[in-house]
Amino acid sequence: MINPKRASSKKDCSIEEHSQIKNDRLSDEEAVIRELIKKYDIPSPRYTSYPTADRFIDSESSDDYLHYLRQRRTVIGPLSIYVHIPFCDNICYYCACNKIVTRDKTVSTRYLDSMEKEIALKSPFFSGSRVVKQLHLGGGTPTFLNRAELLRLMHSIAVNFHLVDDEDREYAIEVDPRTVSVETISLLAGLGFNRISMGIQDFDEAVQVAINRKQSYESIVDLVQAVREFGFKSLNFDLIYGLPLQSVESMTETMDKVIALSPDRISVYNYAHLPDRFTSQ
Ligand code: SF4
Repeated sequence: MINPKRASSKKDCSIEEHSQIKNDRLSDEEAVIRELIKKYDIPSPRYTSYPTADRFIDSESSDDYLHYLRQRRTVIGPLSIYVHIPFCDNICYYCACNKIVTRDKTVSTRYLDSMEKEIALKSPFFSGSRVVKQLHLGGGTPTFLNRAELLRLMHSIAVNFHLVDDEDREYAIEVDPRTVSVETISLLAGLGFNRISMGIQDFDEAVQVAINRKQSYESIVDLVQAVREFGFKSLNFDLIYGLPLQSVESMTETMDKVIALSPDRISVYNYAHLPDRFTSQ
């Protein structure tokens, strides 16, 4: 005969054991997370450029550069190309990117003239059988370029390099949601891009005002829907923590909205406050 008291105490014991195991597991995970945070909580160059900014030196001459380019001729294997479009319509106060804020739309024509020359000069060192597996347009704001300019740039790259349209390619572009429409997303898909990165930073309106970057949640919803409809393989959101007026509550709300839109990845940056170097801060 089962002693109800014993049976009950056995059941209690197993719940206790279960919750103890769960707590142990949690504290193990927490310990690992704490260890990782401790390990990586150090100042380091941002990995957003390659080579990272601290690898650039002034002492290289054009002959050195040519020497390195010639060395690349013997290299086989796929290519990754990065194209920087430095222009932006407006300044975001937190920004530490390499950019030129201007309303003068003629600058991009001159920039593309120079870029076409550079592409034609450099491509002989890389082209041939090397396919472009990765292409990344970053900025600044790549979508500062209008439709005709984006077509012109992609034409120049396609003529000088071996672009592909297979599923494995990673052709990415950073977009400022304030400068693009559903039509732009359609154009980008047509040009071969299959990855999009959106500068979101924070959905909180007060924070957006404080950083001079107002963009409504509704406009992002429309763009995300277009990104899905046009079959992009990857959608990334850039977010920043440490901005003025952010709080745990506001960040939680922002993260809830991010999760609701289900991007394929998020990149979370800490705000680097360097007002001596970046006057807008
Ligand atoms: S955050 Fe982006 S859009 Fe804003 S100023 Fe910097 S580069 Fe331009």
